[in-house]
Amino acid sequence: MFNVDYIRPQTLPQALAFLGENAPDTAILAGGTDVMVDMRSGELNRRYLLDVGRLAELRQIEITEGELTIGAATTISEIGKSEMIERHAPALRMAADKFASRQVRNIATIGGNVAHCSPCGDTIPPLLIHDAAAGVVSPAGQRNVPIEEMAGGPYHCTLGPNELITHFILKPKPEAVDFADFQKIGRRKELAIARMSMAAMIARESDRSISFIRFALGSCTPTPHRFRDIENYLFGKIPDEGLLRQAGRMLSEGMLEITGRRPSAIYKEPAIQGLFMRMMYPLTR
Ligand SMILES: Cc1cc2nc3c(=O)[nH]c(=O)nc-3n(C[C@H](O)[C@H](O)[C@H](O)COP(=O)(O)OP(=O)(O)OC[C@H]3O[C@@H](n4cnc5c(N)ncnc54)[C@H](O)[C@@H]3O)c2cc1C
Repeated sequence: MFNVDYIRPQTLPQALAFLGENAPDTAILAGGTDVMVDMRSGELNRRYLLDVGRLAELRQIEITEGELTIGAATTISEIGKSEMIERHAPALRMAADKFASRQVRNIATIGGNVAHCSPCGDTIPPLLIHDAAAGVVSPAGQRNVPIEEMAGGPYHCTLGPNELITHFILKPKPEAVDFADFQKIGRRKELAIARMSMAAMIARESDRSISFIRFALGSCTPTPHRFRDIENYLFGKIPDEGLLRQAGRMLSEGMLEITGRRPSAIYKEPAIQGLFMRMMYPLTR
């Protein structure tokens, strides 16, 4: 049994007031799919659980001029069903389809996925290719935190204990983009944490040369990364098989530069190149 008080504020100001007084003793709770696991293992031990999962202010999906906004308490299922996300951030919707199981998707939130800062968080590579930032509030005010700065390392969130993510701000897919994808390798097809994941968004000219590219990798490095070397290498070129194979090799070298050559590299080196080819091969046609 846990010795913890469960608090469910009705509004965002109530949540912030509670955090203002009790932040160091409080864990924020959304869907609880990470929090409950961490409490059971003893890694998380706080006096209060502050449930923000049903706050209306954290649950909208909106498109405004040049910005797609997704509330932090939006569930993975809601992302998977959203036509707005399908249209403006298709790789994120694809990631929702490959996430855990239906039961988990129905309660797990995008805010919890990002704040948990797992290297394997499925929503993070798609957020990275949309230059996303988290809108964060605390009793002291509001700020935007780029997703790239959210994790200080695996499972280490850079937010302060009194800070709460309210929403994510994404740059919508440019009109010219004709290719977007999310790929993931896990131990199983369903209910599998990613051992490797990637998201991409690409536009091509009429001669098929790449005129816009965003590419991000998850699970292989301590924190998910935009791989700008790959983007720069492919930009302006016509993607034939040889070019993509070379880019795949650059990607595995880039991963090893960050992680060092661990025993798992025997598997990861060819696997990352294979997954990259699986994702990018349609561009050769
Ligand atoms: C069986 C199982 C399968 C899973 N499969 C996958 C998978 O395939 N892919 C994947 O990426 N993950 C997977 N996960 C991990 C988990 O489901 C996700 O990370 C999920 O998105 C977490 O969201 P949540 O709402 O449940 O977060 P919670 O568990 O409620 O919270 C997670 C963390 O985020 C913090 N937090 C939550 N909301 C906010 C907020 N608004 N502001 C600030 N901090 C906040 C919490 O304090 C906590 O530290 C799986 C988990 C389980 C148990």
